[in-house]
Amino acid sequence: MGRALFVGRFQPFHNGHLYALKKLLEREEEIIIVIGSAQDSYSLTNPLTTGERIEIIREVLKELNALDRVIIVPVPDIYENMAWPGRVIEYVPRFDRVYSGNELVLMLFERFGIEVIRLEHINRGEYQGKRIRERILKGEPWHHLVPKVVYKKLVEFGFEERIKRLARKS
Ligand code: NAD
Repeated sequence: MGRALFVGRFQPFHNGHLYALKKLLEREEEIIIVIGSAQDSYSLTNPLTTGERIEIIREVLKELNALDRVIIVPVPDIYENMAWPGRVIEYVPRFDRVYSGNELVLMLFERFGIEVIRLEHINRGEYQGKRIRERILKGEPWHHLVPKVVYKKLVEFGFEERIKRLARKS
């Protein structure tokens, strides 16, 4: 038990993220959710703004009754991968360990001498931001891949239409 760090792009937040978040809430007192690639928005790989991602994650946390146990911190990317954990550390409150299923994130924090815990992925074929964005472009159903509260927010933000317009732009 302590304070753990959980990094993600959340483009968008899906059922895989929810599974991981619930696991962390079971194991840790407090969680810092780092919204990575915070500088990016309105692109096909990062359609949502950081502000929108914060709103979405807060809705999920309200449902889980965990708003008071989670600190959300946006962190922009930098070019130097090895220096990135230092960048994250500069932006967030102190933490004890990092949870991730992303090999690069695990490697970089490990190299920095920070305890890392590997997260298992569930239904990675479908619970994946990229897959959801692809489904939207193909006109396939995707609402079942995200929590209901997230879907509601994404409709409010015009997520589907945004992705289709971004695809037309490029
Ligand atoms: P993501 O949204 O894909 O995943 C976030 C977390 O959720 C990961 O730990 C992942 O394992 C977990 N997850 C995803 N799908 C899951 C599933 N189906 N089941 C269970 N868990 C699942 O985000 P990400 O790509 O891991 O985010 C890393 C962020 O760190 C990015 O924004 C990246 O740019 C940033 N980063 C930056 C630098 C740099 O600036 N040099 C270096 C490394 C990473």
